[in-house]
Amino acid sequence: MRTLTGITLLKTHTLVGALEILSTLDKVQPIAGGTDLIPLIREVESKSTHFIDIYSIKELNGIYEESDSIIIGSTTTHSQLLSSKTVSEKIPALHDACSLIGSIQIRNRGTIGGNLCNASPAADSAPPLLVHDAEVNVSSLSKNQWMPLEEFFKGPKISALKSDELLIGIKVPISGNGCSAFKRIGRRKSFTLSIVNAAAFVERDGDSIKNLRLSIGSVAPTPLRMKKVEKEFIGSKLNHQTLTEIGQACSGQVNPIDDVRGTAEYRRDISSVLIKRALIEAWSRTGGK
Ligand SMILES: Cc1cc2nc3c(=O)[nH]c(=O)nc-3n(C[C@H](O)[C@H](O)[C@H](O)COP(=O)(O)OP(=O)(O)OC[C@H]3O[C@@H](n4cnc5c(N)ncnc54)[C@H](O)[C@@H]3O)c2cc1C
Repeated sequence: MRTLTGITLLKTHTLVGALEILSTLDKVQPIAGGTDLIPLIREVESKSTHFIDIYSIKELNGIYEESDSIIIGSTTTHSQLLSSKTVSEKIPALHDACSLIGSIQIRNRGTIGGNLCNASPAADSAPPLLVHDAEVNVSSLSKNQWMPLEEFFKGPKISALKSDELLIGIKVPISGNGCSAFKRIGRRKSFTLSIVNAAAFVERDGDSIKNLRLSIGSVAPTPLRMKKVEKEFIGSKLNHQTLTEIGQACSGQVNPIDDVRGTAEYRRDISSVLIKRALIEAWSRTGGK
């Protein structure tokens, strides 16, 4: 471990100020809650020495409901999301995920933007947002664009962000009568990343699946949407056999690796279990809808 000497922290209270700094100075990295970045700096794994603090930019923080969507500012913390009624009612899988991320200290400091920009295949906020068809707003001084979250993840720790860009916010469409849920497996008694995580969004028509979206994390270079499986099972009745088939189909779509947290074989097996658990929970939350 080392103390944070040799680090320059730039401050601004406006979004434009931050974008100006990123567009004019080379090799300046944004820092939000710092829960991912500061351990890397301490372990000398971060190449950057200059950082722009975006945590105190008010424009980047908050949860706002519009007529057809929910907008979440990038520096909104996991604790803020957890205490939001809008999130618990309209994006329940994200509420589930935020309740399981790290410890209270990590949830109080860590942001949703940092979780996505870090682009870990195991990021817990990714599967919930993917099953809710979320889009992200990426901006530089000269360009402002929305892109599907799925296109934001490019590889392990690689996002679509360029060096002069910031993730500004996330847009989650408000989705009819569907409901979602999130499940994860991590090491017990340790505040650490998921070995595998999964989210399901389902809309029902009586006993049948009217709409289905599934996502699994930590089983490939990026968090995955299971689009092939979704397509195959829309219109099916949800019963024990369908659940088994959906689980098997999902574990056939994943491409995990062995690492310190789990083996590829374990991850493949547990993908099937977690996606079934998430789907059962999401289905039960739809009640009679
Ligand atoms: C003990 C511990 C436990 C943890 N447990 C979990 C867990 O259970 N689940 C989980 O998913 N994660 C976990 N994490 C990881 C981390 O806490 C989360 O990923 C957190 O959400 C990161 O947010 P942050 O604001 O701290 O990001 P930071 O550390 O500030 O930044 C992370 C990365 O994102 C970039 N960045 C941040 N915001 C922006 C932005 N708006 N625009 C452009 N780039 C940006 C930074 O440059 C950096 O590369 C854990 C971490 C620790 C230390």
